[in-house]
Amino acid sequence: MASSNTGFSTAQKGICITLAAQPHTECTLQEPLDFEGVGLHSGAPVRMRLIPAAAGSGIVFRRTDLDNFEIPANGRNVARVSYATSLMRQGVLISTTEHLLSAFIGHSVDNVIVELDNLEVPILDGSALPYVEAFLRTGLKPQRRRREYLRILKPVEVTENSKDGTKFIGIYPGTGYQIDYRIHFSAPIGTSRFLGDLDTGAYADLIAPARTFGFREDEPMLRNMGLIRGATDACAILIGAGKIQNGPLRFDDEFVRHKVLDLIGDLALAGRRIQGRVVAERAGHAMHTALVSRLMKDRSAWDLAHVYDDESQEQTEPAHAAFTRTAHA
Ligand SMILES: [Zn+2]
Repeated sequence: MASSNTGFSTAQKGICITLAAQPHTECTLQEPLDFEGVGLHSGAPVRMRLIPAAAGSGIVFRRTDLDNFEIPANGRNVARVSYATSLMRQGVLISTTEHLLSAFIGHSVDNVIVELDNLEVPILDGSALPYVEAFLRTGLKPQRRRREYLRILKPVEVTENSKDGTKFIGIYPGTGYQIDYRIHFSAPIGTSRFLGDLDTGAYADLIAPARTFGFREDEPMLRNMGLIRGATDACAILIGAGKIQNGPLRFDDEFVRHKVLDLIGDLALAGRRIQGRVVAERAGHAMHTALVSRLMKDRSAWDLAHVYDDESQEQTEPAHAAFTRTAHA
């Protein structure tokens, strides 16, 4: 799939695009959607059914293999696992939720019951594209309830020093849902940066198709640890000996776009779509979920707001209305 890149212009159109793309009322699926595959980490075969749900109910996972045990997708149920984001309640696990939750937030889908007959969400092609294609095929159903956004009121930051450099993630007041993500890896990934605003409605074209990626060098260790039992060439970009082993890429900066996809999915665990600006550098699931935990603990850092208002717009520089790609630096 070729990059359609931006196709939107910036600041002066920002608010109009925002309002047109986001009606600010909740949304569910038009009809149930079925998926089948294996979990990337567990290798477990799984059938998943996404079921339309009532306004105000949010995203709730349901383990049909465990008497329909339910786990709401929110920060209270985050389990820290290094290679994926998982939910746990009373010892029951739902693993690798991030790509599905990213698709829900990216498409403003608020209320869904996610039925699974095993512990891990299927990896499919390693991106959020299969979900987005299904949403576009069957349509979404607007609901009457006004959407509550998690509006950021003051900065919350997490910093961690590592041997590869300082990892950072911060969230700030702002309009829309702006993301500024930087990654630094060795060749062929290199350094790249992605800037965008989710409220432009560009998620389906610019973020959803970006696939997860992994390094051949890490494969024996990860296999020994039982962390990639479901990995195949069809569900991730594989990098080995400084080259991409199973090209072509869907975007020349597909790696940073996937980090943005993961970020959106992980921050979904705040329980509401964000209104604010996120800056991340060398971050990953652990940093993303650490930010969610810190945010949930600091009740003065956010409130729940129905629509954008003038007050919050004055706090920021003009919104960049489109996802704009910054060339490899
Ligand atoms: Zn991912």
